[in-house]
Amino acid sequence: MGNVGAKETPILLTPDGRRIDGRLKNELRPVRIQAGALRHADGSAFVEWGHNKVMAAVYGPREVHPRHLQQNHKAVIQCRYNMAAFSVDERKRPGLDRRSQEISKVIAEAFDSVVFAEEFPRTSIDVYIEVLQANAGTRCAGLVAASVALADAGIPMVDLLPAVAVGKVGGEIVLDLKKEEDNFGEADLPMALVPQSGRLVLLQMEGHMTEEELGRALDLGVQGCRDIYEKMKAALRERYTLTPIAEAAR
Ligand code: UDP
Repeated sequence: MGNVGAKETPILLTPDGRRIDGRLKNELRPVRIQAGALRHADGSAFVEWGHNKVMAAVYGPREVHPRHLQQNHKAVIQCRYNMAAFSVDERKRPGLDRRSQEISKVIAEAFDSVVFAEEFPRTSIDVYIEVLQANAGTRCAGLVAASVALADAGIPMVDLLPAVAVGKVGGEIVLDLKKEEDNFGEADLPMALVPQSGRLVLLQMEGHMTEEELGRALDLGVQGCRDIYEKMKAALRERYTLTPIAEAAR
């Protein structure tokens, strides 16, 4: 898997089933979601997920730039996922590389299947995801932040879009890989779920697992998404149940 280099593989799973950071196989890293983190965006959210720190901002529906992307029957959803140069320990070259373009595309497509885009023809809904600190699972953290930001912007959607990566580490199926598990594990499988319908709108896989393992990985990921979903709803509830005085002071 990515970034393996020549480093020696660390022990990823102890005999008593603990992972490199002490978590159990089905345990998420700590997740904190703040809805409405930015003043100037139409909607925003900040997500801290393990050692990931991700900001999302949403603008729109607004005029389409570049103009030729405009669609007469629906809004176009444009997404830009970007990793800051300081987000990883070895300085990342700034700017849009192929990985960022791919992630931007799959996230935009995931939102395309939940946003009621037909309600806003000839407009653009612009989603910006900035990864400030990365520790694996940033596309999922970005998706979660962007989904809460879309809700914060008042964009009508079928549902929120929780996401999580599952994978295979030390021969076992585990939830929510951190950096060492992503680098040295056998498989990484990010997914995003529409909770109400159970439909997966993002599913990617790097590495190898058997059909039986894939089934278990999907079950574990769906459960992880449902847990993240509760945290997303709680963040929005917290944002929108402030008293008017507290809101004015923001
Ligand atoms: N990463 C990095 N440099 C890069 C790209 C990725 O150090 O140019 C790290 C970063 O911590 C990222 C992890 O590798 O979160 C896993 O990257 P992957 O492409 O699997 O995407 P992610 O898991 O973040 O969605």
